[in-house]
Amino acid sequence: MSRIGNAIVIGGGIGGPVAAMALQKAGIEATVYEAYEGSADGVGGALSIAPNGRTALAAIGAEERVAAAGSPMRGMVMQSWTGKRLAEFGTPPGLPEMLLVWRSDLYRALYGEAARRGVRVEHGRRLVSLSDEGGRVVAQFADGTSAAADVLIGADGIRSTVRRLIDPAAPEPRYAGLLGFGARTSGEGLTPTADKMHMVFGKRAFFGYQVTDTDSGWFANLPHPRPMSAAEARGIGAAEWLRRLQEVFRDDRTPAVEMIRRTAPEDLVITGGLEDIPSVPTWHRGRVVLLGDAAHATSPSSGQGASLAIESAVQLARCLRDLPVPDAFAAFEGLRRERVERIIRMAEKTNSDKAAGPVARVLRDLIMPVAMRLLASPEKFAWQFDHPIDWAAPVTAPRGVALPT
Ligand SMILES: Cc1cc2nc3c(=O)[nH]c(=O)nc-3n(C[C@H](O)[C@H](O)[C@H](O)COP(=O)(O)OP(=O)(O)OC[C@H]3O[C@@H](n4cnc5c(N)ncnc54)[C@H](O)[C@@H]3O)c2cc1C
Repeated sequence: MSRIGNAIVIGGGIGGPVAAMALQKAGIEATVYEAYEGSADGVGGALSIAPNGRTALAAIGAEERVAAAGSPMRGMVMQSWTGKRLAEFGTPPGLPEMLLVWRSDLYRALYGEAARRGVRVEHGRRLVSLSDEGGRVVAQFADGTSAAADVLIGADGIRSTVRRLIDPAAPEPRYAGLLGFGARTSGEGLTPTADKMHMVFGKRAFFGYQVTDTDSGWFANLPHPRPMSAAEARGIGAAEWLRRLQEVFRDDRTPAVEMIRRTAPEDLVITGGLEDIPSVPTWHRGRVVLLGDAAHATSPSSGQGASLAIESAVQLARCLRDLPVPDAFAAFEGLRRERVERIIRMAEKTNSDKAAGPVARVLRDLIMPVAMRLLASPEKFAWQFDHPIDWAAPVTAPRGVALPT
């Protein structure tokens, strides 16, 4: 039997709707409050849902709809800018394949499934403050309205307001030394990549691409010495970025230049500086807890941010189903922190390889073929992907916490 009756979920990105569905499955009524009006149609590039993210969705019966919104990615081929194949990473046997999904399609799938289950999502509700009032947490929104519930979950992303409200000293996002770009374009005349994503450590920047019979998608990570917000980067203009990117990739033996040339300026997704937060010291306070990027923001280089947000949403619901607050939050942190911070550290290492300057690049190109061959062995990376969640298994209180009888 659940110890709490209802929850406020702040943020209708990826973790928020999944958390609300998982809470509902756990017998806890949840409403999602999203700052932006309307849906995210047409916003954002592609992202990958890793096997572990799909497994977590399956634990709450929401996997099929998301799978239908994406296309399978049967492996990742790592290449150097000379065209040399460094390694190939496949999905460990017995696990679902990786999924490539456009962010707007993912939102549509998650919102559609949440709506089908009767989960309420309120748009245009930006959280500005919160207070604990007699065992209830009260959220105040920018439009002057408020809402109250037994607990509040901050799934409000890397620039989380909830994080700042529960810990004003919480760390800010850290710039990874790279700017992000991407687009979907025609695949006509390009060699299909057989459902595999090719990742190229280019001479001057990093390039990822996948080509199917009908279309193709690419992303680029461009080393840049100082942080740049998405707005600042967009201010430079898409046509100018496309010109610069063609220049940057001119020596690489890949389809990068051709794919960028085919991209219309209006189709270029300009992300700005890539960021992470190595460790957020305070994940919960009182009746408030963080999940997803608010608690554990990994840079996109891990390909795991969305999947970790989904995992955390499902695990938090299990904890709230079985334990009272705050033990549930302590158990949640105990289940999650080590794993997510390990993945954040791994992505940090990838970023430094992507952002290597001319000298470091020579060293990188020498070492990488050996390092990649070692890394590509399934036992080295299976821990990330093979992360089953047993929904039915009861969650026990963390050590040192006595449960009420
Ligand atoms: C360029 C790029 C590429 C990426 N590629 C991948 C990838 O391939 N694979 C992968 O797994 N991950 C990837 N990620 C990371 C992934 O997008 C995030 O990890 C994931 O979106 C985190 O989900 P979330 O729900 O925690 O936060 P978000 O998806 O950011 O959602 C937060 C939501 O909260 C809302 N919000 C914010 N403040 C408030 C407030 N005060 N009140 C109410 N609502 C608020 C926001 O509007 C937003 O809708 C990528 C990220 C970027 C930037």
